[in-house]
Amino acid sequence: MNYMHRIDSNMPPLQHSSLAALGEFGLISRITSAVSPGEGVITGIGDDAAVTSPSPGMQLLVSTDMLVEDVHFDLGWHDPSRLGRKSLAVNISDIAAMGGIPRWVLLSLALPSDLPLDFIDRFMRGFLGMAAEHRVALIGGDTCSSRSGLSISVTVMGEQAPELILRRSGALPDDDIWVTGTLGDAALGLKVVQNGGTGDDYPVSRLLDPSPRVSAALALAEAGVVTAMIDVSDGILADFGHIAEQSHVGGCIYRDDLPLSAGFRSHTADLSEIPYQLALSGGEDYELCFTAHRSNRKKIVDCMKKSGIAVTRVGIVINSPGVAVLCPDGTRYEVNSDGFNHFT
Ligand code: ADP
Ligand code: MG
Repeated sequence: MNYMHRIDSNMPPLQHSSLAALGEFGLISRITSAVSPGEGVITGIGDDAAVTSPSPGMQLLVSTDMLVEDVHFDLGWHDPSRLGRKSLAVNISDIAAMGGIPRWVLLSLALPSDLPLDFIDRFMRGFLGMAAEHRVALIGGDTCSSRSGLSISVTVMGEQAPELILRRSGALPDDDIWVTGTLGDAALGLKVVQNGGTGDDYPVSRLLDPSPRVSAALALAEAGVVTAMIDVSDGILADFGHIAEQSHVGGCIYRDDLPLSAGFRSHTADLSEIPYQLALSGGEDYELCFTAHRSNRKKIVDCMKKSGIAVTRVGIVINSPGVAVLCPDGTRYEVNSDGFNHFT
C-alpha cells in the first residue's frame, strides 16, 4: 500500500521525511509535544503508566475500540484529520452511551513504515481536536510498526456517579423506545462514497466525522429518566436488540416514525421506496437509543431541547422476546439484514 498519493499538496516541509528516520521515540515525542496538560492527569505520557485522579465518589468507565484499515475505514475516503477525529469520537460515544463523562484516553498505533509523517500529523490534529472538544486528555498509548495497513486502537476512560450510570439491561415492558438525531445517514454516506461521491455531502460527513452525543447523554443521565441506553453503531435494530436481550424484553419499532434527515430524504427522493433498511440496519450513526417510562415523555423532550439534539419516540418495549418493525397498517416490515456484523 502506497500512502503518498493521499497527501494534500499544501503539505509543509518536514524535518524528517519518513517515519523510519524519526523512529518510535521521535514519533512519541512529536505526539507528546502536541498534547496539552489535562484535567485530573497527575502523570501523563512519558512514564511506564499514566496516573489520573478520578473525581471523588465517581466510578471509572473504560471502553476500547479498534479501527483497522480496509475493515473499518478506507483511506481512499477517510482523510487523515477526520480519521483522527472519528477514532476518538466512536470511543467517546461508548462512554456517552453509559451516561459517563469522558476524561482520559490511550491511543495505540500500528503504522506501516511508508506512512508519511504528514499523515500522522494530520491524524493527530484531528484526534486532539476531538479530544479538546470533549475535554478528554491523551495520557499514553503504544506505537509499533505494521506490515499490513494502519491499525488504530483507542481506549477511553470516563467517570460518573454510580447512580447515574446507564446500562443496556434496565428496559421494562411498556417503556418507550427513543432515538436521538437521525438514522441511516452514515450508511447512506457509505453508499455515496462507494459510488464516488464527495466528503462534503451531509450523509458522507455523518460517516466520516460523527459527533458523539455526550451532552445529550449526560442530560438524560442527570434527569434520571432513562431505564436503558446504547449508542447506535450497528443500526437501531441490532443495537436496540442488545438492549432487549440484556433487559429480557422485546420491542416494536414503528418504521414510519424513524427519524430521517432532510439530506437522507433528498438523496433518496428518486427511489421508489424509502430505504428504511439503511435507517434500521445501517451502521455508524452514533446516535443514542434509550428506553424510558411513558410518564417521562415531557421531561425527555424538554431536556433534549436544552441540549439542542432532536429526539424521537420510535417504538415500545414489549414483554416477549424479539424485535419487530411495524408498518403503519400494523403489518410486519421484513428487514433483510440486522446490522453490520464482522465475520459474516
Ligand atoms: P513502554 O516500553 O514502557 O511500554 P513506550 O516506549 O511504549 O513505553 O511508551 C513511552 C510513553 O509514551 C508511555 O507513556 C506511553 O504511554 C506513551 N505512548 C506511546 N505511544 C503513544 C501514542 N501513540 N500516543 C500517546 N502516547 C504514547
Ligand atoms: Mg509500550
